[in-house]
Amino acid sequence: MLKIKNLEVKIEDKIIIQDLSLEIAEGEVHVIMGPNGSGKSTLSKVIAGHPDYEVASGKIEYKINGQYKNLLDLEVDERVKEGVFLSFQYPVEVAGVSNIEFLRASFNSICKHQGIPEMDAIDFNEFVKEKTEQLNFNEELLHRHLNVELSGGEKKKNEILQMSILSPKIAFLDEIDSGLDIDSLKTTAEGIKKIKKEKTSLILITHYQRLLDHIMPDKIHIFKNGKILKSGDKDLALEIEKKGYDWVS
Ligand code: ADP
Ligand code: MG
Repeated sequence: MLKIKNLEVKIEDKIIIQDLSLEIAEGEVHVIMGPNGSGKSTLSKVIAGHPDYEVASGKIEYKINGQYKNLLDLEVDERVKEGVFLSFQYPVEVAGVSNIEFLRASFNSICKHQGIPEMDAIDFNEFVKEKTEQLNFNEELLHRHLNVELSGGEKKKNEILQMSILSPKIAFLDEIDSGLDIDSLKTTAEGIKKIKKEKTSLILITHYQRLLDHIMPDKIHIFKNGKILKSGDKDLALEIEKKGYDWVS
């Protein structure tokens, strides 16, 4: 689904990611763990097309209709319409835009691009209702302004709701488990499992083993100083939880 080859990323001439190569197949779940400041969020922002980050070298190939395309050639909105989803570590508050209207506008613009009929407000409300029930999401929050006056955990749940509505082909979830209470962690994990069943490829950025108790990852990567230093299976996450990152080199 996604092939990253020898990626180097800079911000204001400072190298943040160096020589990063990573391949993610359809439906696979990869986990990225690593100390603060190691470049994990930078990677997801580059995938999404954040303008502050300069790709100095390397390639990111993304499969669209069976053919690999250079993801970096696509505009931000085109990436989303082709099935790339990013949940923010710190979701942005957008006053003046209602959550449900934002969701419907996003959903319909993807439908339009992919040649699927758009949904009117009545049908969309029904569709969203089903999703909110599955995720145990407080419906009242749909009518607030996007992320405004939501708690940290509610913002994270809102990101998962967005993901389950937009049905991406690949999703980067940046510390989606931070700030969630035990019950919310469970419903979030259920939401992630559902999207996994739809063959979505997932990249989970996390510091904790606890999310991985619910979702069986295919691979774990340890990120340090903008590089993958070690890859392994679920046991590697357990080892990190016990021993920290210092021993990884
Ligand atoms: P992580 O998500 O692994 O904690 P980040 O990807 O957020 O790390 O950051 C990696 C490094 O890049 C850090 O040293 C951070 O300070 C720096 N960095 C990230 N974004 C910017 C930016 N917009 N301007 C300057 N430095 C940045
Ligand atoms: Mg981060």
